[in-house]
Amino acid sequence: MKKILTALIGIILTTGIFIGEKCMASNLLTDKQKNIVMISSYTASGDLENLEKALNKGLDEGLTINEIKEILVQMYAYCGFPRSLNALSTFKKVIDLRKDKHDKIGQEGKVLPKGTDKFAYGDNVQVELTGNHIKGGIYEFVPAIDQYLKEHLFADIFARGVLTYQEREIATISALSSIQGLEAQLNSHIQIGKKTGLTDEQINAILDLTKYSKSGAFAIGEKNTAYAKYFKGQSYLMPLTNEGVPSSNVTFEPGCRNNWHIHHKGGQILLVTSGRGYYQEWGKPAQELKPGDVVNIPAEVKHWHGAAFDSWFSHIAISVPAEGSSTEWLEEVSDKEYSKLK
Ligand code: MN
Repeated sequence: MKKILTALIGIILTTGIFIGEKCMASNLLTDKQKNIVMISSYTASGDLENLEKALNKGLDEGLTINEIKEILVQMYAYCGFPRSLNALSTFKKVIDLRKDKHDKIGQEGKVLPKGTDKFAYGDNVQVELTGNHIKGGIYEFVPAIDQYLKEHLFADIFARGVLTYQEREIATISALSSIQGLEAQLNSHIQIGKKTGLTDEQINAILDLTKYSKSGAFAIGEKNTAYAKYFKGQSYLMPLTNEGVPSSNVTFEPGCRNNWHIHHKGGQILLVTSGRGYYQEWGKPAQELKPGDVVNIPAEVKHWHGAAFDSWFSHIAISVPAEGSSTEWLEEVSDKEYSKLK
């Protein structure tokens, strides 16, 4: 009897912990943090239609008008005036339409007192965030950019308050993750994010939320469950047309690739739309792919395609129609082979 009781308590406890963990996973980020991610990601990618929805959701869920203004000001430092101004116009339109909702205005951004040594102020903030005095390299090559980073970004903008440093880093990571070719800067800001207290799990949750801006011009679609067993990592599938020449948008998360496979009878054409990835034919070196690349895969050639380890990757996959065509799925691309790719 005692044994049964102990076993029962064991089951209850394990289940309790399991449910607890599951809850934690969905609560890695607060609603406020999630809204900062979506607003920053759509601002950076220039997707104003989805930005409008994200702004409304942010306000509905309690972001103040001034907090959103600060996110969009921060965005100008990381994706330029054009993206920031577009986002601010969209925000103004949203606010005008929501007049009777009485959204909270919130705390105003602060301006540094006259006479502040902004270079020294910004230098301190930069050290606090990165842990280092950043100098040499391009900062010595073009001292003006060092001056603007310190006096303007790390002084004028960071001193405005309203958002915490951690919230500003969440916005920056989300923006950099939504613009192509900024992996190095993204990785430095991930390190800064960790210094502000973000956990690895939270960073992954932020990066995952930015996937909607990663699929190129076409929608990302749903998780690719139908073919999941032939893929390593998470992929997403958006069928574009099933008539005539069947075509789909396929998006791979970083590190995701499909197994070696062969398209029998009809081949396949890949049109790369976003990110960085690879195509490899059996017995040949892998070739790196970037947006605009076209790969013509003849029938009967064993190959795989997928993302680079540090980048999302999307391509349109066109099946070349042929009578009795089929795809034969083979072995995985091993971690050993894949890890050799840079
Ligand atoms: Mn293929």
